[in-house]
Amino acid sequence: ITVPLLGPAIYGENASMLALAQEPYLPRVARGVFRDLLLILAFLASLLLVRALMLMERRRQLLIRRRIERGGERRIRQASRDLDKLLERMGQSSVAPEGEEGVMARLIAAGAAAAAPPLLAAAPLEQKLERLASRFQHFLERARSLALLDPLTQLPNRRYFIEEMQRRLEQCQRGDERLAILFVDVDKFKNINDSYGHAVGDAALVLVAHHLRRQTPEHDFLGRYGGDEFAILVNLNRLAGRGERDPQAELMAFARSLTAPFNTAVELEGMAVELSISVGITVIDPTDADGQAAMRRSDIAMYRAKQTNSSPIAFFEGGVNDSHLDSYRLFGDLRQAIREQAFAVVFQPIVNRAGEIEAVEALARWHHPERGAVPPDVFLDLAERYRQMDPLSNQLITLSLQRFRPLAERCSELRLSLNLPPSKLADPQLVQQLDRDLAAHGLRAERITIEVTERSVLQTNARVTDNLAALRQRGVRISLDDFGTGHSSLSLLNTLQPDEVKIDRSFVLAMEHDCYSRQIVTLVSDMAQRMGLRVVAEGVEDQEVLDHLLALGVSHFQGFHFARPQPPEQLLQQWRGGALAAGAAVIGEDGG
Ligand code: C2E
Ligand code: CA
Ligand code: CA
Repeated sequence: ITVPLLGPAIYGENASMLALAQEPYLPRVARGVFRDLLLILAFLASLLLVRALMLMERRRQLLIRRRIERGGERRIRQASRDLDKLLERMGQSSVAPEGEEGVMARLIAAGAAAAAPPLLAAAPLEQKLERLASRFQHFLERARSLALLDPLTQLPNRRYFIEEMQRRLEQCQRGDERLAILFVDVDKFKNINDSYGHAVGDAALVLVAHHLRRQTPEHDFLGRYGGDEFAILVNLNRLAGRGERDPQAELMAFARSLTAPFNTAVELEGMAVELSISVGITVIDPTDADGQAAMRRSDIAMYRAKQTNSSPIAFFEGGVNDSHLDSYRLFGDLRQAIREQAFAVVFQPIVNRAGEIEAVEALARWHHPERGAVPPDVFLDLAERYRQMDPLSNQLITLSLQRFRPLAERCSELRLSLNLPPSKLADPQLVQQLDRDLAAHGLRAERITIEVTERSVLQTNARVTDNLAALRQRGVRISLDDFGTGHSSLSLLNTLQPDEVKIDRSFVLAMEHDCYSRQIVTLVSDMAQRMGLRVVAEGVEDQEVLDHLLALGVSHFQGFHFARPQPPEQLLQQWRGGALAAGAAVIGEDGG
């Protein structure tokens, strides 16, 4: 403060400023002090202002809170009156009406019973409010349990289980608790359902749930995770507390107590049913950010248990080689995607010699949250290996029909080609299911072509034959896919008698530079024409190949040269004019 304020004047360039710098010393000091005083005053004023603002804000908050409280009291009083009226109307009777209203009424009645003695009009407001609060609490708990318990087994449902797992995982991360997950799955549950009916299936689940509950100690947490899946959160501290044995041995012993009683047939709804379960175990790593990763590991372990016939119990082993682990991980994600129905379907046109679209083939897509698009060959192979093809292909069929609808509406002649995996073709439910699905989407069976591969027809059994016959009878066309890649393609033409063959894209792609491929294409198209079959050449990528195929007399084409597989909305945008003439517009446009 005592340094004279010469400021910019020292550096000033014009003469009057320099004159300022030469003023006498005393007035300059006085001016400096005055300026300092002003600064201090300004500072004090702003402090006061801030304080005043804070006080005002606090008052405002207080007023708001009072208003909310008053509103709350009013609402509670109103609710109390409503409840009184409702109870009066119900006469506190135990006979509650049925249906949704019935549930509410029963809940409230249960709450009223819990809050006995009944409310007295004369009771002071606080007392009344207190009782009402406890009644609401009871009501809320019941509502919560309705939302969190699985109605069939009365076990915590998947949502509740995940919530609980997250809560315990946080404890785990704080170091208070160590956890393991046991993933339990009923073996061949679909078979039980299919062969004995849903009532027996339900009874089986209830029995398993009952047994698991009996075996699960109080500190552990059991839930129904999915259809025939259960999961148990095991508190490892309680195991350690029990003494000498290591937790792994304890977990094993616990798992054995779960699987043991299921080795004999059980009686369900008067029928003897073979019932068994498999268990996968993983110990939760405190670094797991969420329980999902651990859940996936236990799920994978459970699948290992199912695959090895020696024991129904398996631990997750991270030590398997990386590609194994990777495929296990991907498989875990695939299971999740199946649960969440996270797949998409795109359509690729099949055009005739005039370039008109006659059909579209539905192709599955899976966008993995981290890895991006996973090729269908990869995830379908995984699904097949780990016996998940059934739920997956059911989903894909339904989705394909659903997504096909707008295209079918635009063009009344357009057909849909569906790829059927081998296991599906042998499924006793196939025909019924397809009938149901078609009816649900307002589609006729005659518009459907089923693409089957040599592999599915080779394992011909009575089921496959029956299914094919039933499908044919409904007007469904049969197409032999990837023709030429197997060993018995030619003899299959005789036994299967398909309506169509699809020359595998590997030959078409290599046609221009590989004479062997060219010969195969020539042979197949020649033979098919003689037999009066439709021939589809897949993988047509350019005009030269198309010209060559046209010269060979091939009747139908599919490939990037015409259009890439794409969502129906996108396909519709390219649709020009009348339904079939539109194909000509797509030709040469090349969606790629
Ligand atoms: P696919 O039945 O032979 O299907 C034709 C495949 O050829 C598709 O591969 C398609 O994208 C590809 N493609 C079409 N035009 C061309 C072209 O000009 N050049 C080349 N290089 N490729 C072309 P995508 O979509 O990767 O499907 C692979 C396989 O996965 C399919 O072979 C089929 O076997 C299977 N798949 C796909 N979707 C489904 C489905 O929903 N269910 C079942 N069961 N299998 C499916
Ligand atoms: Ca196909
Ligand atoms: Ca094919």
